[in-house]
Amino acid sequence: MSSIVKVDWDSKLPIYKISHLKLQNEGIKSLLIDVDGTLLSRQSKIIPINVKNWIKKSKKFFTLYLISNNPSNERIRKIAKELDIRYKSNALKPRKKITLDAISEMNEDLKNIAIIGDRILTDIIVGNRCNIQTILVKRLSKNGLPIKLNLTLILEKIISIFLK
Ligand SMILES: [Mg+2]
Repeated sequence: MSSIVKVDWDSKLPIYKISHLKLQNEGIKSLLIDVDGTLLSRQSKIIPINVKNWIKKSKKFFTLYLISNNPSNERIRKIAKELDIRYKSNALKPRKKITLDAISEMNEDLKNIAIIGDRILTDIIVGNRCNIQTILVKRLSKNGLPIKLNLTLILEKIISIFLK
Protein backbone atom coordinates (compact mmCIF):
# COMPACT_ATOMS: atom_id res chain seq x y z
CA MET A 1 0.00 0.00 0.00
CA SER A 2 1.36 3.41 -0.86
CA SER A 3 1.47 6.10 1.74
CA ILE A 4 1.89 9.88 1.52
CA VAL A 5 4.88 9.63 3.85
CA LYS A 6 6.64 6.94 1.82
CA VAL A 7 10.33 7.73 1.30
CA ASP A 8 11.62 5.97 -1.81
CA TRP A 9 15.22 6.58 -0.80
CA ASP A 10 15.99 7.53 2.81
CA SER A 11 19.60 8.34 1.97
CA LYS A 12 20.87 9.34 5.42
CA LEU A 13 23.34 11.46 3.45
CA PRO A 14 23.70 15.18 2.78
CA ILE A 15 22.71 16.08 -0.79
CA TYR A 16 26.31 16.47 -1.92
CA LYS A 17 26.94 12.77 -1.25
CA ILE A 18 24.01 11.55 -3.33
CA SER A 19 25.32 9.40 -6.18
CA HIS A 20 24.52 10.72 -9.64
CA LEU A 21 24.97 7.21 -10.99
CA LYS A 22 22.44 5.79 -8.55
CA LEU A 23 19.92 8.47 -9.55
CA GLN A 24 20.47 7.62 -13.22
CA ASN A 25 20.08 3.92 -12.45
CA GLU A 26 16.71 4.71 -10.85
CA GLY A 27 15.65 6.31 -14.12
CA ILE A 28 15.76 9.85 -12.78
CA LYS A 29 16.07 12.58 -15.41
CA SER A 30 14.73 15.60 -13.53
CA LEU A 31 15.19 16.73 -9.95
CA LEU A 32 13.09 19.06 -7.88
CA ILE A 33 15.33 20.28 -5.09
CA ASP A 34 14.34 21.85 -1.79
CA VAL A 35 16.52 24.79 -0.70
CA ASP A 36 16.63 25.51 3.05
CA GLY A 37 18.26 22.68 4.96
CA THR A 38 18.91 20.76 1.74
CA LEU A 39 21.31 23.03 -0.20
CA LEU A 40 22.32 25.28 2.67
CA SER A 41 21.29 26.14 6.19
CA ARG A 42 18.25 28.36 6.55
CA GLN A 43 20.47 30.61 8.68
CA SER A 44 23.11 30.96 5.97
CA LYS A 45 23.41 32.77 2.66
CA ILE A 46 26.51 30.89 1.58
CA ILE A 47 26.08 27.80 -0.56
CA PRO A 48 28.71 25.25 0.55
CA ILE A 49 31.32 24.53 -2.12
CA ASN A 50 30.61 20.80 -2.09
CA VAL A 51 26.94 21.56 -2.76
CA LYS A 52 27.91 23.86 -5.64
CA ASN A 53 30.10 21.16 -7.13
CA TRP A 54 27.35 18.56 -6.75
CA ILE A 55 24.88 20.86 -8.53
CA LYS A 56 27.38 21.58 -11.29
CA LYS A 57 27.86 17.87 -11.94
CA SER A 58 24.11 17.19 -11.68
CA LYS A 59 23.43 19.58 -14.54
CA LYS A 60 25.27 17.22 -16.89
CA PHE A 61 22.73 14.49 -16.21
CA PHE A 62 19.50 16.04 -14.94
CA THR A 63 17.11 18.92 -15.38
CA LEU A 64 17.08 20.80 -12.08
CA TYR A 65 14.41 22.95 -10.46
CA LEU A 66 14.47 24.58 -7.01
CA ILE A 67 11.24 24.36 -5.04
CA SER A 68 11.23 26.23 -1.73
CA ASN A 69 8.63 26.98 0.88
CA ASN A 70 10.58 30.06 1.94
CA PRO A 71 8.33 33.10 1.48
CA SER A 72 11.36 35.30 0.78
CA ASN A 73 11.49 35.42 -3.00
CA GLU A 74 14.61 37.58 -2.67
CA ARG A 75 16.54 34.87 -0.81
CA ILE A 76 15.54 32.05 -3.13
CA ARG A 77 16.00 34.16 -6.27
CA LYS A 78 19.61 34.93 -5.27
CA ILE A 79 20.41 31.28 -4.55
CA ALA A 80 18.77 30.17 -7.79
CA LYS A 81 20.65 32.83 -9.73
CA GLU A 82 23.98 31.80 -8.22
CA LEU A 83 23.31 28.18 -9.19
CA ASP A 84 21.63 29.15 -12.47
CA ILE A 85 18.55 26.99 -11.86
CA ARG A 86 14.86 27.77 -12.30
CA TYR A 87 13.01 28.17 -9.01
CA LYS A 88 9.78 28.65 -7.16
CA SER A 89 9.66 30.29 -3.72
CA ASN A 90 6.70 30.22 -1.32
CA ALA A 91 5.79 26.83 -2.80
CA LEU A 92 3.42 25.87 0.04
CA LYS A 93 4.54 22.22 0.12
CA PRO A 94 2.87 19.79 0.88
CA ARG A 95 0.18 21.54 -1.17
CA LYS A 96 0.47 20.37 -4.74
CA LYS A 97 -0.30 23.31 -6.98
CA ILE A 98 3.05 25.08 -7.23
CA THR A 99 5.05 21.85 -7.32
CA LEU A 100 2.81 20.63 -10.16
CA ASP A 101 3.48 23.90 -11.99
CA ALA A 102 7.22 23.24 -11.74
CA ILE A 103 6.74 19.63 -12.85
CA SER A 104 4.79 20.69 -15.92
CA GLU A 105 7.54 23.17 -16.82
CA MET A 106 10.08 20.35 -16.69
CA ASN A 107 8.15 18.44 -19.35
CA GLU A 108 9.23 15.00 -18.14
CA ASP A 109 7.39 11.76 -17.37
CA LEU A 110 6.45 11.64 -13.67
CA LYS A 111 8.29 8.37 -13.22
CA ASN A 112 11.54 10.08 -14.25
CA ILE A 113 11.21 12.90 -11.70
CA ALA A 114 12.34 12.92 -8.07
CA ILE A 115 12.12 15.46 -5.28
CA ILE A 116 15.07 15.81 -2.91
CA GLY A 117 14.46 17.39 0.47
CA ASP A 118 15.22 17.31 4.18
CA ARG A 119 11.65 17.19 5.48
CA ILE A 120 8.98 14.51 5.43
CA LEU A 121 5.93 16.66 6.12
CA THR A 122 6.63 19.04 3.23
CA ASP A 123 9.05 17.62 0.61
CA ILE A 124 8.24 13.92 0.89
CA ILE A 125 4.48 14.36 1.18
CA VAL A 126 4.28 16.72 -1.81
CA GLY A 127 6.40 14.28 -3.83
CA ASN A 128 4.04 11.44 -3.08
CA ARG A 129 0.98 13.58 -3.74
CA CYS A 130 2.45 14.48 -7.16
CA ASN A 131 3.34 10.82 -7.90
CA ILE A 132 7.07 11.43 -8.26
CA GLN A 133 9.98 9.70 -6.54
CA THR A 134 11.01 10.93 -3.09
CA ILE A 135 14.51 11.25 -1.67
CA LEU A 136 15.22 12.29 1.90
CA VAL A 137 18.60 13.88 2.65
CA LYS A 138 20.32 15.07 5.80
CA ARG A 139 19.80 18.68 6.81
CA LEU A 140 22.82 20.98 6.49
CA SER A 141 23.95 23.25 9.30
CA LYS A 142 25.61 26.67 9.04
CA ASN A 143 29.06 25.15 8.57
CA GLY A 144 27.83 23.24 5.50
CA LEU A 145 28.00 19.85 7.21
CA PRO A 146 25.01 17.65 8.07
CA ILE A 147 23.53 18.32 11.49
CA LYS A 148 24.10 15.48 13.92
CA LEU A 149 20.81 15.36 15.80
CA ASN A 150 17.84 16.47 13.69
CA LEU A 151 15.00 16.73 16.21
CA THR A 152 12.59 17.95 13.53
CA LEU A 153 13.16 14.79 11.51
CA ILE A 154 12.78 12.56 14.57
CA LEU A 155 9.46 14.25 15.33
CA GLU A 156 8.37 13.97 11.69
CA LYS A 157 9.19 10.26 11.66
CA ILE A 158 7.02 9.78 14.74
CA ILE A 159 4.17 11.75 13.14
CA SER A 160 4.63 9.70 9.93
CA ILE A 161 3.74 6.52 11.80
CA PHE A 162 0.29 7.98 12.36
CA LEU A 163 -0.07 9.23 8.78
CA LYS A 164 0.63 5.85 7.18
MG1 LIG B 1 14.11 22.12 3.71
